[in-house]
Amino acid sequence: MANKLRLEGKVAVITGAASGIGETTARLFVEHGARVVIADIQDELGHQVVASIGTDKASYRHCDVTDEKQVEDTVVYAVEKYGTLDIMFSNAGTLGTLGTILDMDMTVFDRTMAINARGSALAVKHAARVMVTKKIQGSIICTASLEAILAGAAPLAYVASKHAILGVVKAAARELGQHGIRVNCVSPYGIATPMVCKTFGGDAAPIEASISGNANLKGITLSTKHIAEAALFLASDESAYVSAHNLAVDGGLSSIMKLD
Ligand code: NAD
Repeated sequence: MANKLRLEGKVAVITGAASGIGETTARLFVEHGARVVIADIQDELGHQVVASIGTDKASYRHCDVTDEKQVEDTVVYAVEKYGTLDIMFSNAGTLGTLGTILDMDMTVFDRTMAINARGSALAVKHAARVMVTKKIQGSIICTASLEAILAGAAPLAYVASKHAILGVVKAAARELGQHGIRVNCVSPYGIATPMVCKTFGGDAAPIEASISGNANLKGITLSTKHIAEAALFLASDESAYVSAHNLAVDGGLSSIMKLD
């Protein structure tokens, strides 16, 4: 049934939801009947997203994922406001700065790991604590990347941090399976979101053209909606027996080697 609400009555926290993939996913989750806490550090943008979705279905919470207390408080806020937590989508991320290993700035390395890898571990930890305590058979999803499978165009720290997310997901899925909690990740190829445009220093159009040029799957441009649809699948009961899975949304790129 095309119009079936796939997340009716569910409550989700989405980190990095003021922009890009997280924002689109928040909108899609709400369209499917969920109530969503939009957690981000871009307060003004986050409040705008909530206002356009509707304050009855979404709320904003300032949450820097490098700060454990803020992650914990965000989870507690969701449970107090909406009564439960069914879905954690750990999606906040940074590309860091461009450069080679020869001139790698270890402060940037640490910051990239703190947001992408440690931030995901914290989101999984605090969502799982609530789910285990309240006996919620929830779904936890992390945004990894094609760069979690292979090293593409991203800086070393980003590649390392995204590979680490796969480890977080697998280890958490193993531990949490006994509680009926599923943990998965979604791995996008490239989309000209603010994170990408800021790092590669350009307008969206040429960046999008370059991404499409390197893509395996032609005749379609990867969008935030495609990733949101994958997250929706992993969040919904349609993936009820899927755990420790990395759902690549990359048009096949991570599984092929082009020789022509
Ligand atoms: P985006 O810039 O639109 O969104 C990223 C969001 O994360 C922003 O709203 C930002 O404020 C937030 N954020 C950054 N640091 C944070 C922190 N410390 N605490 C809380 N929030 C923080 O970019 P996007 O492309 O939508 O990125 C979302 C996720 O998708 C990231 O994890 C990124 O690595 C991943 N990803 C993106 C692509 C791509 O090509 N766009 C590809 C693969 C994976």
